[in-house]
Amino acid sequence: MSTHTTKHVNTQNGGTLLEIQHLQKAFGGNQAVNDVSFSLQAGELLALIGPNGAGKSTTFNLVNGQLAPDSGSITLGGVSLLSRKPHELWHMGVSRTFQMAQIFGSLTVTENVQMALLSADGQSLSPWQRAAHYRCADALQLLEQVQLDTQAHRPCNALAYGDVKRLELAMALANAPRLLLMDEPTAGMAPDERHALMALTRRLVNQRGLAVLFTEHSMDVVFEYADRVLVMARGALIAQGAPAQVKADPQVQAVYFGRGKTFGGSP
Ligand code: ADP
Ligand code: MG
Repeated sequence: MSTHTTKHVNTQNGGTLLEIQHLQKAFGGNQAVNDVSFSLQAGELLALIGPNGAGKSTTFNLVNGQLAPDSGSITLGGVSLLSRKPHELWHMGVSRTFQMAQIFGSLTVTENVQMALLSADGQSLSPWQRAAHYRCADALQLLEQVQLDTQAHRPCNALAYGDVKRLELAMALANAPRLLLMDEPTAGMAPDERHALMALTRRLVNQRGLAVLFTEHSMDVVFEYADRVLVMARGALIAQGAPAQVKADPQVQAVYFGRGKTFGGSP
């Protein structure tokens, strides 16, 4: 294992931000993640794909601190992320898209972002206060970034599904993250909405130098927007590289298209 002596973290101009080495996680006798290693640069959009049960969510939950690995290392800018609570990770600049459950339907779009800003600032709201006066300009700026500013004053329960996803993204940006994790962000979306959300994510990566790791079940959006693609099957990383390269990989094709076929000669 290498030791890191740098005191400050350089995340500018595509330095390695997230480094994952030899990650292992088993559930009983089921090796859900088997010796997975990869890295992620600042300003990079990295897709983790693979069929159901491949180990994507488990890998994802190891990175976001919901699960502890059996072995292996995860570092952000050279600092270990292991054994840290989700709120600690959040303050280190690791964010993930909020699930709908964390959105308050009766509050406006802006107020939900303000709740996320409060939380990012370590503040909690007294029952008699409203979030409505908290960092209004910053909340609006976040909404502009996800192109939701025109809906700012609508209650969330009146939003279309695609707009809820944009709101989740705005809320995930409230702590000015270096690393954003998205587990199947486009699940349940129509093709148009999927493309719009990924195009937006792409722009945020470019504009903010954000590093994004996202898992995806379907392949279409991945190859259009990701800088790099990791493919998992049965717990192991079977391919990684540029989208075109991964798409042409025979092992990847077998996993996705070769149902029932086995690969002569491959382990
Ligand atoms: P994916 O997200 O690629 O569909 P998962 O990471 O959810 O795959 O699952 C990988 C494997 O680990 C599967 O065989 C799944 O059944 C198993 N698994 C996932 N989470 C748990 C858990 N909490 N307890 C037991 N087995 C699990
Ligand atoms: Mg999953």
